[in-house]
Amino acid sequence: MQNLDEFKSLLASPKKIVITTHHKPDADALGSSLGWAGYLQQLGHQVNVITPSDYPRFLNWMSGESDVINYEGHEAQSAQLIADADLVCCLDFSALSRINEMGELVRASKARKLLIDHHLSPEDFADFVFWDTKAAATAELVYDLIVLLGDKALITIPMAECLYAGIMTDTGSFRHSSTTKKVHEVVSELIELGIVPSRIHKLIYDNHTEQRLRFLGYALSEKLRVLPEYGVAYFAITRDELKRFDSQTGDTEGLVNYALSIEGIVMGVLMIDRSEMVKISFRSVGDFSVNAFAREHFDGGGHKNAAGGKSHLSLDETEQKLLALLPQYREQLLACNNESSY
Ligand code: 5GP
Ligand code: MN
Repeated sequence: MQNLDEFKSLLASPKKIVITTHHKPDADALGSSLGWAGYLQQLGHQVNVITPSDYPRFLNWMSGESDVINYEGHEAQSAQLIADADLVCCLDFSALSRINEMGELVRASKARKLLIDHHLSPEDFADFVFWDTKAAATAELVYDLIVLLGDKALITIPMAECLYAGIMTDTGSFRHSSTTKKVHEVVSELIELGIVPSRIHKLIYDNHTEQRLRFLGYALSEKLRVLPEYGVAYFAITRDELKRFDSQTGDTEGLVNYALSIEGIVMGVLMIDRSEMVKISFRSVGDFSVNAFAREHFDGGGHKNAAGGKSHLSLDETEQKLLALLPQYREQLLACNNESSY
């Protein structure tokens, strides 16, 4: 952060602080927000975490979660908190459009703005920027920033659990290419503090409803389309299918990764018909940039190997649009299907 001293002096006296993160927060979004909130509270600030939407049930164990305000259903209260804040912290997203209606409230607020993020192409709206696309998770950046501020001793076990959850999930349990020596060093510090990794794995990955597993089985057997000629595999899930399996927020998380587990597959895609739009998740291996693909064709973005986007066409039309794009990417996709592209 270029103006770290100015940021430090801002934090030197009690402030009203709002922390927010992206639509449908995942474990990194919520974990980094709650870890950062725990730190700021210890410094004596008045802190509110506001999410633009709901989030998966399997994040409810996080310390401070019960105080999180969901903007949807608490619009007036949230707007007031944002307008009155001295500092708004934006974690794990890089463009204000990612927090829906809240984006314009944040932009209009007199508050100073802090961005802590690891996504590509950040929008220029923040006064303080702690941004590194090489970071595996925003939770890793929160850890780094607390250390940089000289307050490592203030990291408690509940905070460390939130940060561990963010790093664990954004690295795909320490398997994606973002998993560096530094990631393991940060995690080893969190373990040194006293967190129990197996507990966090269980809480996040093995804490689902039977219906969710049945849905996974159905999606894998009935819905997976594999196109080896392009190195692509995808799912297109209808609204009716979500209803049939009583799908809850978070229940489709991780599904897209199964597409990538097939030999020779370079890009996995998951298209889901949500009522407002078709929401799309992209994952890739090696040099194929799904960030660029999502930005160019599906009004989205993210990271090189994990991105999201949307489509206002029908689910069928969205699938057709994807299929029509593949021939022009065929060479690029197939070129990534070898060891040297990692
Ligand atoms: P997911 O597929 O898990 O929803 O998202 C993968 C990555 O892409 C995450 O880092 C997420 O923040 C980002 N992402 C998801 N949807 C969008 C979107 O609509 N726009 C942008 N810019 N990024 C997105
Ligand atoms: Mn993240």
